[in-house]
Amino acid sequence: MKRRTGQDRSVTRNWKPATQAIRGGTMRSEFGETSEALFLSSGYAYDCAGDAAARFAGEQEGMTYSRLQNPTVQMLEERIALLEGAEACRTMASGMAAMTAALLCQLEAGDHLVGGRAAFGSCRWLTDTLLPKFGIETTVVDARDAQQFQDAIRPNTKVFFFETPANPTMDVVDLEAVCGIAKAHGITSVVDNAFATPALQRPLKFGADVVAYSATKMMDGQGRVLAGAVTGTESFINDTLLPFTRNTGPTLSPFNAWVVLKGLETLDLRIRRQSENALKVGRFLEGRVPRINFPALPSHPQHNLFMRQMGDAGPIFSFEVEGRTQAHGLLDALQLIDISNNIGDSRSLMTHPSSTTHSGVAEDKRIEMGVTEGMLRLNVGLEDPEDLIADLDRALGQVGL
Ligand SMILES: *Cc1c(COP(=O)(O)O)cnc(C)c1O
Repeated sequence: MKRRTGQDRSVTRNWKPATQAIRGGTMRSEFGETSEALFLSSGYAYDCAGDAAARFAGEQEGMTYSRLQNPTVQMLEERIALLEGAEACRTMASGMAAMTAALLCQLEAGDHLVGGRAAFGSCRWLTDTLLPKFGIETTVVDARDAQQFQDAIRPNTKVFFFETPANPTMDVVDLEAVCGIAKAHGITSVVDNAFATPALQRPLKFGADVVAYSATKMMDGQGRVLAGAVTGTESFINDTLLPFTRNTGPTLSPFNAWVVLKGLETLDLRIRRQSENALKVGRFLEGRVPRINFPALPSHPQHNLFMRQMGDAGPIFSFEVEGRTQAHGLLDALQLIDISNNIGDSRSLMTHPSSTTHSGVAEDKRIEMGVTEGMLRLNVGLEDPEDLIADLDRALGQVGL
């Protein structure tokens, strides 16, 4: 009897997310291994020349070359697609490879894109610098206000591109409203869901067309590898994305795919506990620092929208002290929390965006998107929150807060 595998959608799509995260996409080799195998092979051999020709013609199932397919990578793609509730997924070498591919595969000179103003530094570089260089017009808007997307539409607008919650201001975008405007105008909405992951927020449910990830963040979750993913309909992935990625090669390595497969097994556990810890730390900081940007706190103006879309806090928020000197002083006074610009890690990490992740964004644009000189972004990890609060308490005292 042939054992069911995680590749059979008629079975796996009925599983709950916690089950999908552990078993979704699994393929077993002839050895019946329980944990997914790591297939380190760049190429594949054929039984006869006719098989090779049939595979290249797409008439026979099977692998041809690891830039195009790899069993370990395919297991991860199927698992992410299931968790997202998407028809299809393709992984990439990094989050930025995923964002770049998701945009360039569908845009051409003469097109127009509307992007969210508050965004990861490199995502802003795509909209501000890369796309215009190839004749693609871009407009950035305050994505908290859906009307601004509507008002920015031109006859040649092809794509809306934004993240929610946004890095590092935690601006929340009303997915249903903005994706609804996109749908009404035949515009493709591309949502960078790195902060939330499908464990907390599924943008497709709110009408998004394409959801893209830095899997480096919560999906790996232990600071080991870079990875990215793009999810969407079969037709978008196969007809629009694949021709671009197969020929340009931003392919994820099988080793990194294997690490992320293992990371997904604990995604739900980690994100729930990190959310709980982040809320404890956030409540401690609220009132103690001049400003906190954490929509999970009821005092945040976008709290209700955030909770409706995310359902839980997530591990990341930002807060503000008085300028760069105090922000750097606070970082230097920390003993437990690391000074590090990564997020989603099981370790607590803090960074000063304006001098690190957003230093490549022009100063006027940084100010406009709300990345102030006193802003610090905190990723709350899996350590005991009492230790984190003690570390912050002492460090804040040292800088006079
Ligand atoms: C980190 C990040 C990226 C880029 O991902 P990499 O894996 O570092 O290339 C893109 N978008 C957001 C929101 C991020 O946090």
